[in-house]
Amino acid sequence: MRKVVKFGGSSLASAEQFKKVGSIIREDEERKFVVPSAPGKRDDRDTKVTDMLYGCYALADADQDFSAELKAIEARYQQIIDGLELSLSLEEEFAVIRQMFLDKAGSDYAASRGEYLNGIIMAAYLGFAFVDAAQVIFFNENGDFDGDRTNEVLSARLADCESAVIPGFYGSMPDGRIKTFSRGGSDITGSIVAKAIKADVYENWTDVSGFLIADPRIIQNPEAIDVITYRELRELAYMGVPVLHEDAIFPVRQQGIPINIRNTNAPEDDGTWIVGSTCQKSRFVITGIAGKKGFCSVNIEKDKMNSEIGFGRKVLQAFEDNGLSFEHVPSGIDTMTVFVHQDEFMCKEQKVVAALHRMAEPEAIEIESDLALVAVVGRGMKSTRGTAGRIFSALAHNNINVKMIDQGSSELNIIIGVTNEDFESAIRAIYDIFVIAQL
Ligand code: ASP
Repeated sequence: MRKVVKFGGSSLASAEQFKKVGSIIREDEERKFVVPSAPGKRDDRDTKVTDMLYGCYALADADQDFSAELKAIEARYQQIIDGLELSLSLEEEFAVIRQMFLDKAGSDYAASRGEYLNGIIMAAYLGFAFVDAAQVIFFNENGDFDGDRTNEVLSARLADCESAVIPGFYGSMPDGRIKTFSRGGSDITGSIVAKAIKADVYENWTDVSGFLIADPRIIQNPEAIDVITYRELRELAYMGVPVLHEDAIFPVRQQGIPINIRNTNAPEDDGTWIVGSTCQKSRFVITGIAGKKGFCSVNIEKDKMNSEIGFGRKVLQAFEDNGLSFEHVPSGIDTMTVFVHQDEFMCKEQKVVAALHRMAEPEAIEIESDLALVAVVGRGMKSTRGTAGRIFSALAHNNINVKMIDQGSSELNIIIGVTNEDFESAIRAIYDIFVIAQL
């Protein structure tokens, strides 16, 4: 078995955290390829090193003195080095960084130093080889990730290593300049490395024991998800469930490599497995519940709309022409409703209404704001009768008015529109009926 292990910022925020990571790696000899993030927050009031670097570089870019800020960053690393009792000096590295800041090397370069330096410390601490991501992870001229070239170079480079540390979050452009992925991008690096070495598992270590069925800010101590498919995860991620960078799924998904989300602070927990497909039943019929507030519905009425060829296209054209994407479009015989993000829609409202009148000649247009969408996701719904019925009776029992229903043809999710006000109680009602009632 070959495992790639990625550790997030909170897992590497201090020497104590590094020590936990060290014992996790040492206790399993299959954990030979390590992808670290930059040191994260040690507590709620702390600042991530990545943010310190962005701030420091902003001063450099504005020709202001950044010495104190850079010293503070150096001190964070020194504390880790001292706590691990390593005889490692980053003095020369910091001299180079200082010069590169003065030469305006760019904010991507600046931010990437967070993982670069943490990678050097991690490699020294574990006695593993250090492989600079700039030499093995590539972007093309347009700044898009170059998967083919990366896979070729990275797999050849790692074939020579028995074990290695590859810092997350960055790579290089064809001209050698450093470029980062978007925030949280070390997850992507981990996935790319897993693909390159054809790993059996990509372990992603963070500070929670996997994904939770529902948002813990709404449900107290929600149950964890044991196994989730990539497709289910995409649905939940789209609805705002955090933890893993969404682009991290693609490289491993192509290879059928499962991702195991684990907790550095509770390594005994199994965490969540993210897999391509599975016949393992989820413990509950549903895998997860997620949702978002802040939508508007634009309800367009026209008699015999259903027999007018091109009506839907004209309606959606009015949104497209105003640069708006839509979320859902449930329709009836004489009505069609378009759900859009409220913050994007508000400033264009009257333009859209005018365009709708011009293009689709409706009889009436009604707009409602402050709506929320709740997604109930689960591969188990396909084979279970009565899921929708249970959802709606739970909502009715809790006096929640359902504004919209949308079930994808994959039967993987049911999306329900409610008012923003009913959002939390809708999630609680659904959680109660599917999870609490089953425990
Ligand atoms: N350090 C980077 C960030 O804070 C990347 C990462 O941690 O994945 O976004």
